[in-house]
Amino acid sequence: RLNTRLPALPLACPHATPHRRFSAPAPSKPRTAIVTGGARGIGRAIALGLARDGYDITVNDVSSAQPLIDETVAAIRALGRRAHGHAADVSSPDLAAGLVESAVSALGPLDTMVANAGIAQVKPLLEVTPEDFERMFAVNVAGVHYCYQAAARQLIAQGTAGKLIGAASIVAFKPFALLGHYSASKWAVRGLTQAYAMELAEHGITANAYAPGIVDTPMWELIDEGLAKKAGKAKGDMITKYSRELIALGRTSVPEDVAKLVGFLASPAAGYITGQTYIVDGGIIFT
Ligand code: NAD
Repeated sequence: RLNTRLPALPLACPHATPHRRFSAPAPSKPRTAIVTGGARGIGRAIALGLARDGYDITVNDVSSAQPLIDETVAAIRALGRRAHGHAADVSSPDLAAGLVESAVSALGPLDTMVANAGIAQVKPLLEVTPEDFERMFAVNVAGVHYCYQAAARQLIAQGTAGKLIGAASIVAFKPFALLGHYSASKWAVRGLTQAYAMELAEHGITANAYAPGIVDTPMWELIDEGLAKKAGKAKGDMITKYSRELIALGRTSVPEDVAKLVGFLASPAAGYITGQTYIVDGGIIFT
């Protein structure tokens, strides 16, 4: 009764452009995701976490990691989900497009792309060679772009909403000494992700990134070793230093800490979130 006395409300904000009225449909079941760099570390934990959330997963990594791809695929199948392995170097646009094609032909329409694959290198900027710099950006930035692009083209062709999720890092907010070109590449992932979010909103596609701090994976072991060497300390000393002195929660993270954030970003609960980069670092205090 009260409503009948109120003036009729417009169905959409009169100032909204057509694409801003898009309302993303709930993803169809079962959902499918591609996880790049999914053979080990954070990517493996993301693949298993999404599988537990009901996703069927395509696990990507480089061909030299084929045994680990197979192992992750078997672990997903053991959870009762479908899984497909596809080796491809994501720094190649053709191979990234082939990855999406293979995922769709094996598991059906795509819902989510997690562009997780990345490389790191500990080197002072003055010693970084053109080859070092180019490879860093080829994998960490162009690789994310090619995966986002191929996935977005697929989602648009399907006519369905979907999610692009990329790996940034805490160093995308504050560069870390001796990780200069790595930091710059992760900073670029933040910008790229935001740009995808703006351009693809009209298709119901969201784009967000996750920014881990120090995660116990083979990559961090490599960084820890490099930083310790430069500081004249023993391997492992850097982790101890960071976790005791610089992380508010008092411990470095495990890949599952990051996978939980990605699970949220991939879920319908994150439907109104786009263009963001979320830090999951236990509260790192940079000095
Ligand atoms: P990791 O080195 O343990 O695993 C990365 C995986 O990506 C490896 O299996 C590797 O073979 C794969 N990969 C590398 N280049 C590839 C390519 N061109 N194509 C396909 N796969 C490729 O690293 P991680 O620690 O699990 O890191 C995962 C992501 O999270 C990376 O993007 C990394 O930069 C980011 N990250 C890691 C940390 C950390 O502390 N470990 C912190 C912040 C951000």
